[in-house]
Amino acid sequence: MAESKPQLKARARRIGKILAAAYPKARISLDFETPWQCLVATILSAQCTDARVNRVTPVLFSELPTPAAMAAADPGHVQKLIVTTGFFRQKTKSLMGAARAIVERYGGKVPDTMENLVTLPGVGRKTANVLLGHVYGKPGFVVDTHVRRVSHRLGLTSSKDPDEIEAQVGELLPPDQWTPLSMRLILHGRQICYARAPRCDQCPIVKECPKIGVFPARPAGPARRRSQRI
Ligand code: SF4
Repeated sequence: MAESKPQLKARARRIGKILAAAYPKARISLDFETPWQCLVATILSAQCTDARVNRVTPVLFSELPTPAAMAAADPGHVQKLIVTTGFFRQKTKSLMGAARAIVERYGGKVPDTMENLVTLPGVGRKTANVLLGHVYGKPGFVVDTHVRRVSHRLGLTSSKDPDEIEAQVGELLPPDQWTPLSMRLILHGRQICYARAPRCDQCPIVKECPKIGVFPARPAGPARRRSQRI
């Protein structure tokens, strides 16, 4: 029998509670101290590891600490500073375009609403939700590849479209749980619910997952140490 909406909501809340116990301090691993730094680091993290971004940003933040400084920079110099994060030409365009827009339209301050954030060059809903959830203390459900896969396997969404997933999963839980849940789903996807051969034998939410028994069992191995950083 198909699961009713109230049943689905109740299951989503149970999943949220179990994941909260499994990953109590789940948080993003990009280093930043200001909204501008968060925006820069998040833009740089596309197709790049957070560890690599964290090696690049100290010099970048020190040389170009504000949107005004970035907007006035020489593009070639910005490219040099971020070259190791990959896609450096496009990322330079995004960083400088966002910086200019922030200076010209928002008085040099990174906006704090989804509506305004997504008007910045290089900023989509995923980046905007990172800012909302991690800088401004507002609800922000971040949908990356792990959230997409795990939410789908758990039956929390019927869609593979990130915007629809954000809306569908968000509807199941109170807004104050959006950011922590998305961080925990990312960790769960990285550490247990792999794209190929997920470790259902080590999964704390196995009893809440419709995919139980679908994936072949893997040879028993040591349980992986759980990191709390995304
Ligand atoms: S039971 Fe398996 S498929 Fe379901 S969430 Fe856990 S690891 Fe993923």
